[in-house]
Amino acid sequence: MRVGFGYDVHPLILGRKLILGGEVIPYQKGLDGHSDADVLIHSLIDALLGAAGEGDIGQHFPDNDEQYKNISGLKLLENIYKILKRKKLAINNIDVSVVLEEPRIAPFIMKMKKNIAQVLKISSEKINIKATTNEKMGFIGRREGAASYCVVSLNEDSD
Ligand SMILES: [Zn+2]
Repeated sequence: MRVGFGYDVHPLILGRKLILGGEVIPYQKGLDGHSDADVLIHSLIDALLGAAGEGDIGQHFPDNDEQYKNISGLKLLENIYKILKRKKLAINNIDVSVVLEEPRIAPFIMKMKKNIAQVLKISSEKINIKATTNEKMGFIGRREGAASYCVVSLNEDSD
């Protein structure tokens, strides 16, 4: 059994789409970054890479590389799936906590789980996504950004 942890943060700005777990969520601001800035998926990728002993997201997808400009987090996750498969690692479970002040993302969680389950070829029952606010404190509380934490466990395939 292997365990991995991931953390990511992005600024919230006007003129960008808010994309979390591969879902576009209606809101007046969106997360800014070189890619689609899907903070949830990025924290998941770092957790998976951590558990696999494969470094971090920046090593695999450099943010000064033009081919990753505005790239979907789910697309990056497909590459991580291939690494896991090559190393014969199977996902046991995924637990994510997204921290943002608004909007409420609860109505979108089922769809996010489905998106992730599809890419990683696992049951969505292995995925748990939680959302919390920062109780109006700090940059998240001022709606200047959002963060995401993720823990995963992997099994080394016996076959
Ligand atoms: Zn990121």
